[in-house]
Amino acid sequence: MKHVNLPPIKKSMVALLMAMAPNAFAYDLVINNGRVMDPETGFDQVAHVAIEDGKIVEISKNALEGDKAIDAKGMVVAPGFIDTHSHVVAMPIMQKLHLRNGVTTPLALEVGAYPVADWYQRLEGRSQTNFGASVSAAGIRTKVFNDGYNTRTGTVINDIFDEEEKKESGFSADALTKIATAEQIKRITEMVDAELKEGGLGIGTPVGYMSKATTTEETKEWQRLAGKYGVATYLHGRFSSELPPTSGVLSIQEMLSSVGIYGGGLLVQHMHQQTLNETPEALKMLDDA
Ligand SMILES: [Zn+2]
Repeated sequence: MKHVNLPPIKKSMVALLMAMAPNAFAYDLVINNGRVMDPETGFDQVAHVAIEDGKIVEISKNALEGDKAIDAKGMVVAPGFIDTHSHVVAMPIMQKLHLRNGVTTPLALEVGAYPVADWYQRLEGRSQTNFGASVSAAGIRTKVFNDGYNTRTGTVINDIFDEEEKKESGFSADALTKIATAEQIKRITEMVDAELKEGGLGIGTPVGYMSKATTTEETKEWQRLAGKYGVATYLHGRFSSELPPTSGVLSIQEMLSSVGIYGGGLLVQHMHQQTLNETPEALKMLDDA
């Protein structure tokens, strides 16, 4: 390619050009003719969207011009969805599926990641989606009960269900069945604390997978830390039942009471799976809280 020296364009010249032809500068990208939906504002109509420098700068009833144009006729144009309950954030093929569902931000919050820094490092610069994970209390428990556990995925749930990773990581199911001693609870708590400092988005507490292993003494310590750092716990509740003594509502109250005491937040994942027919009452309880 030949290098050609052009005379510099003067500011006044640019101003003149703009005055003469205000539409000469097209947007970076326009998405025309789509049904534009914004759940936050309730906006819902066929419209045209302009994007400049990666940001939406105009939503118009008139078709817009861009360097790149997408005709979205017959399709919905919406903000990327956030999925707070993904177990497959770190898998490339599952990221593709997330994107096809409109999910641009899948988050591993319920089971989370451990070690958090490794998990983030593996995705940095090569993820097709936004990504994030909570601190995996289950992953940490697995390590405390079995020091030979060394995960390469940082995702304990993968180490449970993927035969190759199960072998590779040395996973054992002790965390799901064993009650921790006072000394082990102290160590688990210290590790959760350290992982929050590494950038975990709160604490993943799938108590329902270890309902006979994790004591309230232990979960209360996680939630004390959540309050200390002003982050949330993400709950798969301890019980799945409508009946006493193992009502799903009780399993939510268990965690909700610690939020009342220590602060932090609580996101109840798939509540209906735990509270069944009592779900409307459980939702009201959360609203009241
Ligand atoms: Zn769950």
